[in-house]
Amino acid sequence: MILVDTHCHLDLPDFDNDRPLVIERARDAGVQGFVLIAFSPTRWEAALTLAEATPGMVVALGIHPNEADRYDSQVEQRLRQLARHPLVRAIGEIGLDFHWKTTDAKTQERAFRRQIALARELNLPIVLHQREALHELLAILEDADPPHRGVMHCFTGDPADAARFLELGLHLGIGGIVTYRSAPDLRRAVQMLPADRMLLETDAPYLAPVPYRGRRNEPAFLRATVATIAELRRQTEDEVARATTRNAVALFRIPLSIE
Ligand SMILES: [Zn+2]
Repeated sequence: MILVDTHCHLDLPDFDNDRPLVIERARDAGVQGFVLIAFSPTRWEAALTLAEATPGMVVALGIHPNEADRYDSQVEQRLRQLARHPLVRAIGEIGLDFHWKTTDAKTQERAFRRQIALARELNLPIVLHQREALHELLAILEDADPPHRGVMHCFTGDPADAARFLELGLHLGIGGIVTYRSAPDLRRAVQMLPADRMLLETDAPYLAPVPYRGRRNEPAFLRATVATIAELRRQTEDEVARATTRNAVALFRIPLSIE
């Protein structure tokens, strides 16, 4: 089984003490590809250095909505330059976050729209983040000249929400939350997703799946998410792995040879 973790933060200090072991455990579990999401300008260069040293790892660079007030034309210019690095395969994570309210909605929307435009200019997919802002996020995406290319990371909506993202041309990133019994809407959505639009992710170190819930998440735990998705969709784990890995390799040009 070959898996791709399409959303992880292995650059964070949470992994400073055992990063090589975490990556080794991932490979033992079949996780051969990684999209490292560097969500702050202070992390961009270190993320590229880590990816250069890690086979199968590519990078998304962007400014998280919680840091949207850092977005100015100087930062944008740096992002544009670094995004030309051959291992940069997406702009993200970008979007709206009305939970923490560290930046106001207008500032978030501006940084979001500018980064959508930048991704287009550079012909890169987008990695989307939203929290308590689903309808506002969809409204901007529907306004910003769809179809888009990219993924709604950590999708948690119901089948109707999923249909709107699919309509926009986007993939849906399914993570550990699908293993929580408290997410019946998401579990129904996963049952009806077209196989060619589904991606797997951990969001490590966050959102560990059952039975690791509450612990630091890591890419090896993706296997628990695969098992739940297979059960929900009445497929084998190999079928889930094959489809999602094919999607990830195509969207992010992951340097993996499959079939
Ligand atoms: Zn993330």
